[in-house]
Amino acid sequence: MSRPLIRIPYTDLFPPPQPIPRTANSLPGAVAALQEFLLSPTPRDRNLPGSTVVLTGAGLSVSSGLSDYRGTNGTYRKNKTYRPIYYHEFLANHEARKRYWARSFLGWGALRGAGPNAGHYAVRDLWRMGLVGRVVTQNVDSFHAKAHPELSTLELHGYLRAVVCVTCRNEMAREEMQGELARLNPRWDEFLRAAVTEGAHAIRTNPDGDAEVPGAPYTTFRYPACPTCLRDPPDAGGERATVEVDGDGAWSPTSTAGILKPAVVMFGENIADRVKQAAEEAIDGAGRLLVLATSLATYSAWRLAKRAKDRGMPIAIVNMGGVRGEEAFFADLDPNQTGAHGVRVDMSTDVVLPALVKELQQNPFRRPLAVEAQGKEVPKEAVFRDMVK
Ligand SMILES: [Zn+2]
Repeated sequence: MSRPLIRIPYTDLFPPPQPIPRTANSLPGAVAALQEFLLSPTPRDRNLPGSTVVLTGAGLSVSSGLSDYRGTNGTYRKNKTYRPIYYHEFLANHEARKRYWARSFLGWGALRGAGPNAGHYAVRDLWRMGLVGRVVTQNVDSFHAKAHPELSTLELHGYLRAVVCVTCRNEMAREEMQGELARLNPRWDEFLRAAVTEGAHAIRTNPDGDAEVPGAPYTTFRYPACPTCLRDPPDAGGERATVEVDGDGAWSPTSTAGILKPAVVMFGENIADRVKQAAEEAIDGAGRLLVLATSLATYSAWRLAKRAKDRGMPIAIVNMGGVRGEEAFFADLDPNQTGAHGVRVDMSTDVVLPALVKELQQNPFRRPLAVEAQGKEVPKEAVFRDMVK
């Protein structure tokens, strides 16, 4: 059995990147290089499929109003005091869960009210043009699913739109959870309503959907028990579990089961084997990797890029600021290549992706031949010759 994959944060600084090719230091240069990347045949000696898999991260959702884990230049943590909760802490500690749910309660409105931005729609447009085939995202905000429901997205780190019981694995919509949290915490609900009405307390939301409220009395916060486990306590280790609630239905620390958790992979938590496998299959089923708005700081994402590299797939990275281990992804590139074998753009996806889509739309090109449909690689030189210059 392979070793479990754990989501862990990585806080080292990454050196600033060099544009690849060198002309990718301006917007037109970057667009030209990415166009060539997407339209060129994949290396024939590797017998790779013609499609491109996209791997995205927190930077893609910044212009939707969510903050990145890192600063916009990627080289420092934007919020030095922000410390995400770890899975073991969430499981073990009632007080930590109160704090988590209080912050999540306050942050939910901002996330619910936010939606996909031009970057997500550009990914959709690239798919419609037949230029990208699959999306793997580290983001838990469901914006990809909203922007392009027809193009399936693998959510590597889960999703905030639901909560899941750690005992029975049943899910509940996050929106329903919000109603329960409001009911169990009327004074917090008042505070939140006042904050929203006044607009005075700009509640700042992190990519994992929780908000900072310094000095808030988290210890008074209450959260519900899993309704399924409450109705019918499960067996655990040959014994019937205890699930108890107070008079209003808040989970009681005398319980041994029925803890609800956001349906995201928390830091320190294993990524489910089926998700890990699906992500590997998405890489293996593609001929190129396009990395968008992530520093690959999370090992689970970095190793997908490493996997693509090991398979000989051309890699393009569009990210403001340095990326973990990126020198290795581009080390053996011919310095004279102009984008077909690798691209590195140190700009925001908000700027580059819409410009790329616009350029592709204004200069109609022949779609790449449907390699998958034919089940074999076909010569593309004749098709591509005229459109990459
Ligand atoms: Zn349950």
